[in-house]
Amino acid sequence: MEAPVHGSTGYWADAAERRRRRRAFNLLMATGLIMAMLGLGWGVFFALRGAWAVAAVELAIALLGGVVILMARLRRTRAAAWVAFAGMAALLCFFSAFLDASTTTIPGTSHLFLLVLALCAHHVFRAEPPGLRYGAVFALLLAFAVFAATPVGTPAPFAISDDVRRIGIWVNLATVVASFLVVMRLAESDIAEHRALHRALRDALSQRRFELFYQPQVDGEGHIVGAEALLRWRDARRGILRPGEFMQAAEETGFILPLGQWVLQAACTQLRAWHADPAMRSLRLSVNISALQLRQPDFVQQVSDAMARAGIDAGRLTLELTESVLVHDMEDAAGKMRALHAMGVRLSLDDFGAGHSSLSYLRELPFAEMKIDRTFTRGIVRDAHAASITRNLLQLGQDLGIDVIAEGIEQQDQFGLLGEQGCRLFQGYMFGRPMDVDAFNRRMGAA
Ligand code: C2E
Ligand code: MG
Ligand code: MG
Repeated sequence: MEAPVHGSTGYWADAAERRRRRRAFNLLMATGLIMAMLGLGWGVFFALRGAWAVAAVELAIALLGGVVILMARLRRTRAAAWVAFAGMAALLCFFSAFLDASTTTIPGTSHLFLLVLALCAHHVFRAEPPGLRYGAVFALLLAFAVFAATPVGTPAPFAISDDVRRIGIWVNLATVVASFLVVMRLAESDIAEHRALHRALRDALSQRRFELFYQPQVDGEGHIVGAEALLRWRDARRGILRPGEFMQAAEETGFILPLGQWVLQAACTQLRAWHADPAMRSLRLSVNISALQLRQPDFVQQVSDAMARAGIDAGRLTLELTESVLVHDMEDAAGKMRALHAMGVRLSLDDFGAGHSSLSYLRELPFAEMKIDRTFTRGIVRDAHAASITRNLLQLGQDLGIDVIAEGIEQQDQFGLLGEQGCRLFQGYMFGRPMDVDAFNRRMGAA
């Protein structure tokens, strides 16, 4: 049995992750609220003065603020951040150009906020491709430069009066300085957390605290035909941590690359050890591969090296990929998959049905196996809809000539029903939880 798993609440890496997410959420809500309130306030102000066009622009910005709040609440953080930035940039440009343009007596100050926004963009979009990230910063700085260099002209008839701007100038400057410092401080603490996380993961790897657990995969008679290698972090104080508690951090820090390489090598070494035992010689082993790993230019070589070093037969190794791996750069992924397939490595489409699974992946790419996600197998006994989906997926596998394995089997009636539908491969707590290698070997000896 799998050793008791430490709850995620006390775990600092997880807590840091949640803190970061909460901070991003709060920042977005605050931005959305500011946009909504400023837009609404100024919208009403200009509507009362009869400047309808300006009022409409202000109200559109207020609406955009509402959209940011809604998207943040729906956890569409990335999209919300982009809308917030676009909205704020539009608001500031509008102010700088028309409402707060420099006059002969009072200089405009609204454009200074564009500098703060550029600093924000540099930090918030740090995980985006460089073109987007630096493009956003560049566009904001360019807008700043244009407004800073614009000579004094005749103010628009609806511009804010100099009496108001005379006070506003100091409010604006103080706000710019304060928000610059706040953004800088937030960025600093984020970077510090990131570094600490990376250090913790690196120490765990060098101190051999990562370990592979093995969960049995069985055939229709319940005989073990293989296993899935599942990563665990064994910590003296916190107990055994599951991937849900550190994998996202590993992805974000890029640590998944050395860690993934370690997993691959450890899995191949294990296959070699099983090969020496006649009772375990025919076992297959599945290894999970993350999107970042597959994106490495030398990934195919890494797999080939790991197999050669351990001296194993490629047909024993299965690499599990999820659709998220494929959506990013389909061409690149497809090329590598074909090379792996040519080497004899089996490829499995993990969590099928959980995301935006596309049938074309299965048809066009050299998958040897599809794993039906737990969300379907969980409900099949009570839910006719789920049962008809699994039946169709099994039929699909048969038509395409690929194996279908059902994940998350916990009860006899799920096993029975899927068996009736023609399923021949299963994995789930009913046949065994992920266990350490000694427990798995004992289990095989007993089988
Ligand atoms: P996955 O590849 O879909 O693995 C199956 C997960 O479902 C495992 O969670 C397993 O413990 C759990 N599971 C299996 N049978 C049952 C069942 O009957 N009921 C329930 N409720 N759960 C079941 P685990 O070990 O926490 O792993 C979670 C995910 O982390 C994996 O999902 C995989 O995507 C990822 N992962 C695990 N090891 C690695 C690794 O070495 N590298 C990479 N890149 N990802 C990994
Ligand atoms: Mg998997
Ligand atoms: Mg899965």
